[in-house]
Amino acid sequence: MTTTELREAILAHLKYALGTDPDRASVTDWRIALSYAIRDRIVDPWFASTQAAEAAKGKRVYYLSMEFLIGRLLEDAVVNLGLMESASAAMSSLGLDLDTVLSDEPDAALGNGGLGRLAACFLESLATVGCPAYGYGIRYEHGLFRQSFVDGRQVESPEDWLRQPHAWEFERPGAAFEIGFGGRVASNAGRTEWTPAESVVAEAYDTPVIGWKGRWANTLRLWSAKPTTFFDLDRFNRGDYYGAAEPEALARTISRVLYPDDTTEEGKRLRLKQEYFFTAASLNDILRRFLSEHDDLRQLPRKVAIQLNDTHPAIAGPELVRLLHDVHGMPLDEAIVTARGCLSYTNHTLLPEALERWSEGLMGSLLPRHLSLIERIDAAHAAAHPDRGITMRENGEVKMGELAFCMAHKVNGVSALHTELMKRTVFSELHRLHPERILNQTNGVTPRRWVLSANPRLSGLLTDAIGEEWVDDLERLHEIEPLAEDAGFREDYAAAKRANKEELASYLRAERGVSVDPEAMFDVQIKRIHEYKRQHLNILEAIALWQEIGDNPNGDWTPRVKIFGGKAAPGYVFAKEIIHLINSVAQVINSDPVTSKFLKIDYPANYNVSLAERLIPASDLSEQISTAGKEASGTGNMKFALNGALTIGTLDGANVEIRELVGAENFFLFGMDADEVMARRAIDGHAARAIEADPRLARALDAIRDGAFSPGERGRFDAIVSNLSQADYFLVSSDFTDYWRAQREVDVAYRDRTAWMRMAILNTARSGWFSSDRTIRSYMSQIWNAQGLLADAGTDGRDEGLVSHRQN
Ligand SMILES: *Cc1c(COP(=O)(O)O)cnc(C)c1O
Repeated sequence: MTTTELREAILAHLKYALGTDPDRASVTDWRIALSYAIRDRIVDPWFASTQAAEAAKGKRVYYLSMEFLIGRLLEDAVVNLGLMESASAAMSSLGLDLDTVLSDEPDAALGNGGLGRLAACFLESLATVGCPAYGYGIRYEHGLFRQSFVDGRQVESPEDWLRQPHAWEFERPGAAFEIGFGGRVASNAGRTEWTPAESVVAEAYDTPVIGWKGRWANTLRLWSAKPTTFFDLDRFNRGDYYGAAEPEALARTISRVLYPDDTTEEGKRLRLKQEYFFTAASLNDILRRFLSEHDDLRQLPRKVAIQLNDTHPAIAGPELVRLLHDVHGMPLDEAIVTARGCLSYTNHTLLPEALERWSEGLMGSLLPRHLSLIERIDAAHAAAHPDRGITMRENGEVKMGELAFCMAHKVNGVSALHTELMKRTVFSELHRLHPERILNQTNGVTPRRWVLSANPRLSGLLTDAIGEEWVDDLERLHEIEPLAEDAGFREDYAAAKRANKEELASYLRAERGVSVDPEAMFDVQIKRIHEYKRQHLNILEAIALWQEIGDNPNGDWTPRVKIFGGKAAPGYVFAKEIIHLINSVAQVINSDPVTSKFLKIDYPANYNVSLAERLIPASDLSEQISTAGKEASGTGNMKFALNGALTIGTLDGANVEIRELVGAENFFLFGMDADEVMARRAIDGHAARAIEADPRLARALDAIRDGAFSPGERGRFDAIVSNLSQADYFLVSSDFTDYWRAQREVDVAYRDRTAWMRMAILNTARSGWFSSDRTIRSYMSQIWNAQGLLADAGTDGRDEGLVSHRQN
């Protein structure tokens, strides 16, 4: 598509779709007009892909996830269609700057963190490798809350991404299913029938997901809850306007917000409703599509692969059994086996508090038929394994992990270590009974978003050095390994990093009024705030360093800027205390005239995908410091390594694999491993002992306790101090000393810029395995038994796909 064609298309949409003209149009109007023009280019490959999938009559993959943390869509689409230059030229010919237009788009934040971002990377990779697939989720009206800080404390406000027209979706009023809740179960002529007491309509909204070079497109289908009746006319006519609107308001609540607070009984009920709502709508849709092409439901596992992203859609097991057995008359045992043949389950956490359980009372009242089917499934499993030491129900609760495991033919962890721990801990008994079922699929990230478009300077350098093929064959990055020894390449690589850091520095100056020196090391920890991720270990080290610099302000310190980013769950009080502490420490340290040329701390609010894209390419040091055994994989760690930030980290999650691949000498390891963590926890008074043994740690904790960061309010952070000196379940105190040691090693290493750049280049060169294309191909062959439908998987750079939109 030429610049002129694109320009004409933009102007036409501005006029005919938005009803405005260039003189009046706002940046948002231009952005939406550009989005429509780009979307038009996606529709043909999208249709072609759908038709190719129908013609192939092969297997389709269905990825069920409560969360899709997508971020902005326009830039992704422009990049994947190869229209970056045309778009930029078209925009400047209209007097606009493309970057300004792109960054006007609100993030689609339909997820909390890693799990939701993984789903988004997977969608893009599924399209890139040409695997016929659908993502299924919920079209939340309000995504993850917006975070701001007031006096250093997190304040949440509703996110409102749909306030502007959402240019990427197509509403499908014709694709709708009625989803029931509650009611009665009765036997009728040998068949069991569930008669729900209430129901809502699930209506589909489709977003096309285009792969690299526009060769294939899949669909993200998100369900929105609508009332079965719009309002109660009788009540309206009686003047009861609120009452008349009630059915609609209640129905819409289901897709109103992401993750409502589930600490209250009503919250729990709504959460379970959401889970069933989108799972049931998706399964109905899957069966409808299957039956439009085939008639024998026993063939379902040959045509349908359903991946459950964590246990949130685990009700899919009993729901699919219900559809096959109750609705389509398949014998129960066969229905269970057939459902299992379709389903597989990804476990994302070993944290006991995060493993879902639903009270039988709640499930029985919302999903009475499913509860009785779970009892039948559990009984069948018990009969097949009379010596089993587990049950799907315990203390009046249904255990969703066990249910998902038993209803899946494959269960995967998300890093090598996590998968091993799954076998040894949460699922040890089920693993004994089903030794073939658990396998590992280490997570990945899409290189199109996380390198190509987030880091154009590095991308240009890579393409100049080894050609463009690395973009969808990321292991080709190995080819730059020898260039780590090439002084010219090192200089170019360093210049790209330096320019990224300068850009971030001006962003921080403009947006936050913080001035940082791009010469300093940018030390970054961005992720959800959680005790196991240990942002408090990082800030404790900052306090100790500040104290030490203060003692010796003329010392030869390595200047650092510590950057934090991340949100705390609204009900997670301790995580919010950590945020408050970081902000309070930052305020004191940043205004210390003696130390501030060596140490600054900044915490930009409202961490999201777009902020990650800005921060990661400008980072020198990646903080991956979780308590070993607690982080299932991490994907942030992969984004950093690819962009040439060195990791300081524990042997946890995919850090283990990153260190193996990039080489131990290019990774700053510290702390206890998972076995040592368990042993340490058993030692009485481990925290007190660690504090006693390390005067630096004791002094840092004393400063917090004495109010150094809370002038006039001495006890402000007592909860943190007493946690770290007593229970310290996450072993912050016990790992502090070794963390400090590793950080000082980082200081020394950073001063030798040649050696540092060599290490950074090797991190980029050796992290190609973390492409989500690799992960997806591995799921396709080891779990789904699905085939890609592109002639060549696009590794030789030539366009032989279905439809080509590459620009020449
Ligand atoms: C990648 C990503 C995450 C996951 O980060 P971890 O460090 O792996 O926890 C969370 N949020 C956003 C916005 C991301 O882009």
